[in-house]
Amino acid sequence: MTVDGAGSIPARRQGMPAAAGDPTGPFLRITEIFHSIQGESTWAGMPCTFVRLTGCPLRCIWCDTAYAFHGGERMTLAEIVERVKALGTSLVEVTGGEPLAHTNAFPVVTMLLDAGFTVLVETSGAFDVAPLDPRAHKIMDLKCPGSGESHRNLWSNLDHLGPTDELKFVVKDRGDYEWMRGVISERKLGERVAEGSLRALLVSPVWDEVDLEELARWILEDKLPVRFQMQIHKLIWGPTRPGV
Ligand code: SF4
Repeated sequence: MTVDGAGSIPARRQGMPAAAGDPTGPFLRITEIFHSIQGESTWAGMPCTFVRLTGCPLRCIWCDTAYAFHGGERMTLAEIVERVKALGTSLVEVTGGEPLAHTNAFPVVTMLLDAGFTVLVETSGAFDVAPLDPRAHKIMDLKCPGSGESHRNLWSNLDHLGPTDELKFVVKDRGDYEWMRGVISERKLGERVAEGSLRALLVSPVWDEVDLEELARWILEDKLPVRFQMQIHKLIWGPTRPGV
């Protein structure tokens, strides 16, 4: 098994693993499965295995995983679970691309939970999160206007986020910041975090686009109840390297 310096094991660089379960069973297309340091969310800093599904119908202007739009390796759900087990972290993130664009993402999340993993699901917020196994931790974007995809936000998803779920805004500029501030106020999202019906509001600057000091100042001036986060994996391994 090839393991690169960051501990990643890209599925696309390896042959199929030994059969696990029925090889004709339900499958997903997988861009990569690797372990790394979780770079974002309240789980940041923890060793985590990432299952990156192939394909996304959105095209965020600043997307940093466009390499996951096409290709990928066909793997059965059982094979995916076996690959994750082999990497040995207790924390797993199902991501993409957009994982929830694929029907079989829902059962594989349940299979990972049944196998004893803590499972995070990173989603764009453009697809219905309600059918997800309630034991999964949702990390859901609300797309700001600067992404070019804010018209895809499925606002009803806010009703399906609970005490273990997190809402993320990726901010490209002052316009995005003000949009986020308005949404937090209008939807009373700070109140939801305070009362415990939502775990956290995350603010991520678009890499190399936002002056970090300015963004910090805006947040402090407005006393926004948010968590400013950097993408730790990019600080460690650089902004363009896949599989970390
Ligand atoms: S939803 Fe995610 S994967 Fe899809 S284009 Fe936007 S950032 Fe990229």
